[in-house]
Amino acid sequence: MLAPGWVEPLDQHLLQPAGEIFLRAIQLIVVPLVFAALIMGITQLRGTGYIARYTTKLMSLYVVTSAIAIGLGLVVALIVRPGNNAEAISTGEASASDEGYSLIEWLVSIVPSNPFEALATGNLLQVIVISALVGTAINLLKEEQTRPFLNVVKSMYEIVQKILQLVLKIAPYGVFALITSVIATQGFGIIGNLAVYMLGLILAIILMIGLYVLILFASGVKPKSFFRGFGSAFTLAFGTASSNAALPLALNGAEKAGLQTDLSGFAIPFGTALKRDGAGILQGFNAIFVAQLFGVDLTIGLVIAVFLSALLVSFSTAGVPGAGIIMMTTVLSAANLPLEGIAIVAGIDRVTEGFRTLLNVFGNTANASLLQQWENRPDSKKQKG
Ligand code: ASP
Repeated sequence: MLAPGWVEPLDQHLLQPAGEIFLRAIQLIVVPLVFAALIMGITQLRGTGYIARYTTKLMSLYVVTSAIAIGLGLVVALIVRPGNNAEAISTGEASASDEGYSLIEWLVSIVPSNPFEALATGNLLQVIVISALVGTAINLLKEEQTRPFLNVVKSMYEIVQKILQLVLKIAPYGVFALITSVIATQGFGIIGNLAVYMLGLILAIILMIGLYVLILFASGVKPKSFFRGFGSAFTLAFGTASSNAALPLALNGAEKAGLQTDLSGFAIPFGTALKRDGAGILQGFNAIFVAQLFGVDLTIGLVIAVFLSALLVSFSTAGVPGAGIIMMTTVLSAANLPLEGIAIVAGIDRVTEGFRTLLNVFGNTANASLLQQWENRPDSKKQKG
């Protein structure tokens, strides 16, 4: 089904630029915000021994919940069999190179060799490393040596928050433009072909969100405050398909959600850089889809290779639109699956991306809330500093 002729110019001259302006305006806040929030978070924890504890606890929560999410995506893919139902589509060209990605490479890449380059290019993992180093160094120095710098950081934080409030005034129009542009350009024709793929993927994402709600409930987090605090971050994640763009709102809502500011100032930027349940589900689900589509035997070895590489990829997918599709190369290569699979799903990726980005942000904020419960300090009123 072809879109009428006026749709393309409308999309090119109005919807896309309007959506892009909004996305950029939100993204411009992210680097200074992460930098300031993390330094403030770490320095507020000075002398408390919390940093190492938060990191260890968060990482263990992340590994367990990401493994559950990816496992769930694999089970849904094996039951729904999206690749056995999809119509035969010409394979086209693989849209990415066949370079793999190893854990060692990933570890090396997160250490920046030039802090200004990391800040300028917005590499969030590297920005986290820099901020963590600066925060730690401040904690090791005498207070009078670092007070002027910390004052600058604090006022930078306030300024960035103010800019965020201004940008959010155009949020409804920005999100509307982004979503309308997707519908205008993707149309509904392609959606029909890969309907089972998309519905299966969305089903796995919804199941994982449901599971998180149960886990939160069971661990004593009040779902009402959780949604009141983070609801607007979830909406923004869905509309922009960018976890990074949703970060300012997630940080903003943390106190309302019952998190202490020192804990959320550390946990939420940390999770925004690392925690991507939606990306993990996408990778596992997509690899099973590609195997089914190309008639590759689903051996236990293949499923394990997919699971492990999806886990690694879920920790290294950038929080920007289109990141998940780029990372597919890694998982498909690790499991020896044809990369042509990427070309087949590339056209519809944006349709499901909002859902998985929502889950990425949901998982991050849920894990931060679980950490708050684990720390047994559920009352945000007892804030420090
Ligand atoms: N767009 C997603 C995010 O920002 C990443 C992905 O592609 O899965 O979290």
